[in-house]
Amino acid sequence: MEQQMATGAVWRLAGWSGAAARGTGATIGSLCPMDGALLAEVEVADAAQIAAAEALAASAFSVWQLVPAPTRGRLVAAIGQQARARKQALAAVITLEVGKTVSEAEGEVQEWIDMCDFAVGLSRQLHGLTIVSERPQHRMMEQWHPLGPVAVITAFNFPMAVFAWNAMLALVCGDSVVWKPSEKAPLCAAAVMELVAEVCLREGAPAGLCQCLFGGASVGEALAASPVYRLVSATGSTAMGRRVAAVVGARLGRSLLELGGNNAMIVAPSARQELALRAALFSAVGTAGQRCTTLRRLLVQETIAEGFIARLTEAYQSLRVGDPREPSTLVGPLIDEAACAAMERALVEAVSQGGRLLAGGERVRAGSLGGGFYMQPALVEISADAPVVQRETFAPILYLHRYSSFEEAVALQNGVSQGLSSALFSESLSETEHFLAQSGSDCGIANVNLGTSGAEIGGAFGGEKDTGGGRESGSDAWKSYMRRTTNTVNYGTTLPLSQGVRFEME
Ligand code: NAD
Repeated sequence: MEQQMATGAVWRLAGWSGAAARGTGATIGSLCPMDGALLAEVEVADAAQIAAAEALAASAFSVWQLVPAPTRGRLVAAIGQQARARKQALAAVITLEVGKTVSEAEGEVQEWIDMCDFAVGLSRQLHGLTIVSERPQHRMMEQWHPLGPVAVITAFNFPMAVFAWNAMLALVCGDSVVWKPSEKAPLCAAAVMELVAEVCLREGAPAGLCQCLFGGASVGEALAASPVYRLVSATGSTAMGRRVAAVVGARLGRSLLELGGNNAMIVAPSARQELALRAALFSAVGTAGQRCTTLRRLLVQETIAEGFIARLTEAYQSLRVGDPREPSTLVGPLIDEAACAAMERALVEAVSQGGRLLAGGERVRAGSLGGGFYMQPALVEISADAPVVQRETFAPILYLHRYSSFEEAVALQNGVSQGLSSALFSESLSETEHFLAQSGSDCGIANVNLGTSGAEIGGAFGGEKDTGGGRESGSDAWKSYMRRTTNTVNYGTTLPLSQGVRFEME
């Protein structure tokens, strides 16, 4: 493997190029959320490295785009095989750096593996349409061609899977990739890149096919500004997405945005309450409330609210928060001190806006050194129009509201600026169909009788409004990573014009 991690600054994959330049010396520390210990330091990419990565990505693309798609699929198949072989080790890095429980961390690596399988299948199915022509003896068709180098900017909370959603598809589509992982999860990125680099070298992929630059917002923004990247796929907060959209839009580039959510679940009177309770709990506190699809608002119909809320409160009081490596732990740490402080601030705000704290909200001393960023998940009953409810606090706070009519519940659910995931628990056919119809949920994901989180890779993933409108992973999300051409062929001997236009020389 000729992978260069010169001074830890730039990981270049499948490196047939020279040694990476030294960075400026600025570093980012990777902290373990279990105890706050410094795990590693990585060097921030400087302007020269950013430019070198760009040039290498362009030259890799010029080669890779001409490789037949099924052959490109073989590279992704080999990546998937390695990820399968190293699943537990990769998951351990996620647990160490991001604090996910072992089961959730292994689930994340499985998502990467699943994406490889999906992308390999796709590599033989990058189909276009044929279209009937209005002109005689003409044929129309669409073709999908590789797009170009793709920049991928990712959030901390899915430090491997979101890279895979993008990169595995981009690679089979014939694109090169430059990844800027979250500054809060560089070690996960290093583990991913080591594996990808090894496979790329072994399989003879062009140098620079998949690269990684460490850094924060300024490195991300440099990628967004560069016209070399034909697509900038960015996952993170809505504030970040607005900025990336503006920078990419200014150069008329293409962006794919996967931003914040403020997801709701409706529990109707006919709901199977046992299922609804379990789904609400997992969706609200799984990954310590740090999923974009985390359940943030629970709407319970008033006739069942008293009993349902009492049972949920009881469940919250017995949630096991602690070391994510312990099999009995259900809730691990938050990512850092800032996340704990943001949760505390939101709770103070909620109470000041009339909220009633029913459970949780306090710090938990669970780290091996007595440190760590542990919080007891909080349950707050509050008015649906309280300002704090309108925004995404990336922590385990679940806001409870009571509703009267189904129409009111749908309106409350849709009444926030984000539009990622939504769920309804109901046994009423009329309610479930209305929920899925145009007049129902306005989100990118609408589930019936399951929670808001835990999507499969086979579907297109993403949301509307402030969530950014992007779709990644399954279904036809691959189309974002390719360019479409419409071809018309005239196999006749005359030149008829469309729309009946006449243009005859006398
Ligand atoms: P964040 O917005 O702080 O950072 C995300 C990434 O964007 C990081 O790599 C960061 O360095 C980069 N970045 C920040 N400012 C930038 C700029 N101006 N230009 C370019 N890049 C920039 O988000 P986070 O705290 O890492 O993650 C949590 C957020 O991500 C939540 O809002 C969550 O809902 C969202 N998220 C969304 C999805 C989705 O698919 N919709 C998935 C995961 C996370």
